[in-house]
Amino acid sequence: MRAFEYTTAASAAEAVLAVTPGTRFLAGGTNLYDLMKLGVEAPEAVVDVTRVPELARTDTSGPDELVFGSGARMADVAEDPVLLRDYPALAQSLALAASQQLRTMATVGGNLLQRTRCAYFRSTAHPCDKREPGTGCPVRGGLDRGFAVLGLGETCVAVYPGDWAVALLAFDAVIDVLGPSGTRTVPLGDLHRLPGSTPHLEHTLAQDELITAIRVPTTRAGRASTYLKIRDRESYAFALTSAAAALAFDGDAVTEARIAVGGVATKPWRSREAEALLVGGPLTQETARAAGEAIFAEAVPGRHNGFKIELGVRTVADALFHAARTGESR
Ligand SMILES: Cc1cc2nc3c(=O)[nH]c(=O)nc-3n(C[C@H](O)[C@H](O)[C@H](O)COP(=O)(O)OP(=O)(O)OC[C@H]3O[C@@H](n4cnc5c(N)ncnc54)[C@H](O)[C@@H]3O)c2cc1C
Repeated sequence: MRAFEYTTAASAAEAVLAVTPGTRFLAGGTNLYDLMKLGVEAPEAVVDVTRVPELARTDTSGPDELVFGSGARMADVAEDPVLLRDYPALAQSLALAASQQLRTMATVGGNLLQRTRCAYFRSTAHPCDKREPGTGCPVRGGLDRGFAVLGLGETCVAVYPGDWAVALLAFDAVIDVLGPSGTRTVPLGDLHRLPGSTPHLEHTLAQDELITAIRVPTTRAGRASTYLKIRDRESYAFALTSAAAALAFDGDAVTEARIAVGGVATKPWRSREAEALLVGGPLTQETARAAGEAIFAEAVPGRHNGFKIELGVRTVADALFHAARTGESR
């Protein structure tokens, strides 16, 4: 690992002011240090934000929104009683990620900006347009089983690996960001970029912008929600496909539907078209499947990942029924 300067910040403002070119914020370090040890990231300096009390504050008691400080630990948020009761999809998206040890270290802010798990990106022995623009990509036409079928870039098909951002997207979350010129609010849906011809640019934050909080507007659809994650083994694995689904009903009729999918796209993926198909009628096998098919209508299979399309459709359909059943039991 290359030598780097390490500083700690006592406040969010101090953290932002400490940024010089080549600096990264350090939260739990479970992704950043990992990539530094692999030689994929080589920051000149890191600013440790884990001792900033204001970033750890979480408040799920308000009537209008849930607030998660970016420095809150994944394990703690996953066990928040309000989330478990009223927003099971949010709690599950954290509880089903990584391992208990990692969740105890990792923060909900760092989780959003974790980088792809593409093996070529993580190996400096291989070319990678995301790691080093212009060097090429060995995945296309090659071993692409775990790769994206939605939101493909001109050169990059690496999947966005996180679970929490997928669930947050379904709930219209926003993030508060502090930079040298003040605070701004970014809808979660605008945080991650499509790879296009610049796959090395993964998000829309400047280097000196610190995520301070994640805010989720309250909705009664939270109670009938689920995060369904399909993977090669039942724990400690990233999603092959996943779906966050939330529903509200008036009698049998769906009045509100929220669906986002993970494991299949280059960024967290939401489909308003699919949601609209469900509203106004009862949830049936046919409408649930139609919603899944709508999400994957534009999917482009590679050589080995075509199975993700049918698996993704079924994941969405199953998640909708899980969500509906969860709502009935409350
Ligand atoms: C073996 C393994 C399995 C995993 N499985 C899963 C999984 O199934 N699902 C899943 O979702 N995740 C999974 N993860 C990823 C894990 O959840 C992330 O590594 C973790 O959430 C990152 O959080 P952190 O606090 O450690 O971030 P860090 O590693 O400290 O930071 C990550 C990135 O975010 C930036 N950053 C951190 N905080 C801020 C902030 N407040 N503002 C701006 N930038 C910031 C850092 O500069 C860095 O670029 C896995 C990780 C490992 C190692």
